[in-house]
Amino acid sequence: MTSHMSPEEFRKHGYAVVDWVARYLETVEDLPVLPSVEPGAIAAMVPDHAPEQPEDFQALLDDLDRVVMPGVTNWQSPNWFAYFPANASPPAILAELAAAGLGQQGMLWSTSPATTEIEMQVLDWLVGLMGLPDGWRNASGLGGGVIQMSASDATHAVLVVARHRRRHEASVEDMVVYVSDQAHSSIEKGVTVAGIGHCRKVPVDDAFAMDVDALESMIAADEERGLLPIAVVSAIGTTATTAVDPVAAIGRVAHRWDLWHHVDAAYAGTAMICEEFRIHQPDLSQADSYTFNPHKWMMVNFDCNVLWVSDRQPLIDTMSIVPPYLRNDASDTGAVIDYRDWHVPLGRRFRALKLWWVLRSYGAEGIREVVREHVRLAAEMADRLRADDRFELFAPHPFGLVCFTHRDGIERTRELAAAINASGKAAVTPSQIDDTWFIRVSIGQTTTGQRHVDALWGLIDQLA
Ligand code: PLP
Repeated sequence: MTSHMSPEEFRKHGYAVVDWVARYLETVEDLPVLPSVEPGAIAAMVPDHAPEQPEDFQALLDDLDRVVMPGVTNWQSPNWFAYFPANASPPAILAELAAAGLGQQGMLWSTSPATTEIEMQVLDWLVGLMGLPDGWRNASGLGGGVIQMSASDATHAVLVVARHRRRHEASVEDMVVYVSDQAHSSIEKGVTVAGIGHCRKVPVDDAFAMDVDALESMIAADEERGLLPIAVVSAIGTTATTAVDPVAAIGRVAHRWDLWHHVDAAYAGTAMICEEFRIHQPDLSQADSYTFNPHKWMMVNFDCNVLWVSDRQPLIDTMSIVPPYLRNDASDTGAVIDYRDWHVPLGRRFRALKLWWVLRSYGAEGIREVVREHVRLAAEMADRLRADDRFELFAPHPFGLVCFTHRDGIERTRELAAAINASGKAAVTPSQIDDTWFIRVSIGQTTTGQRHVDALWGLIDQLA
């Protein structure tokens, strides 16, 4: 007995699911932001064996409330101030549904021309919107952009390219990659996964930005030792404090020493759609690659990462292996992009649809408005903290993240973060650099507005 859903049933259940999601988004603001389940509690509600007989779809839907909801962390709550945002929006969610319905497999141009060409065009739109070098457009035929699952994947991929590019000069164990000691852990992970011998952590200045003189001394010392420096990664917006590395100066060092220069703007890249934030993004025409996550702050639900390279050829040379079953006439002409050659996975889904729908639904101006409001709210929160003797700002706040400590010390700071999170009314992230603990307030969920930030301030005031 098979139990395919009929088109009528699909339509009926589809409406019910969309209705369920709409209600979730309407009411998420009133739910506790963080779950309070013990480990194993959700698994205990799921049977140990798959059912032999088909279940009614209504039972599946009911279990969203019964089984799933108790263990959900409400990242889409406007009271979400933890980590960075992983925001979303109705057009993105609907595009995800449409993409699933189409079930495209865009590994080659020929396996889904629309998946490839819409991705090419939308990423070219973003080059213009974010003030990136023209040569990074897919239409340039030189550089280009590609959607990947995560910034970690993008960074890993370019580190493999950097390694491949210098493969005849040294063994991988003798190759070196440089990052600041504030860089995201994904870079060190990428270095490890790529088998590269060394990941050097360059010290930072008082604003947590990379010390370029230290970088250059470390490169020189490594060369002296007989090692091969191959890449440097600079950050526009580090994870802990959104510090901005001196990207232009790092670029000059990279050029002098023939290093691949990768720019990680995973979170802050979205802000570059507003011209005023490009004071943090210098002319990048010398950079080799750049990554940012629309799935953090651009209202495109996870997953959607963008990687641009200034020259696509080294990437393709590194990643392309053509077995006979993937050969086709379109690829043989060389006139199309086969995105399977731009990252590790072969298969790829139609992620560009949600980016396209978000850009068209909001328009660039609509996205700028959201970003500017988040940054304004962050600046206002910083002003409140600055004006209150109990608190001290811990780092500059160029974007939507504010970091602060309680003046009574580490314990008080950690207790305050724990009390905010235990309240269920908001979520923040306690973090640490060296011996100092601080609280990160990240303002960037799609629907976060004045009243949510006012409420958070009320909570901080009351619990401090
Ligand atoms: N780079 C930076 C600066 C980040 O803040 C993050 C995540 O917060 C990442 C990379 C990793 O992002 P992803 O989860 O897309 O791998």
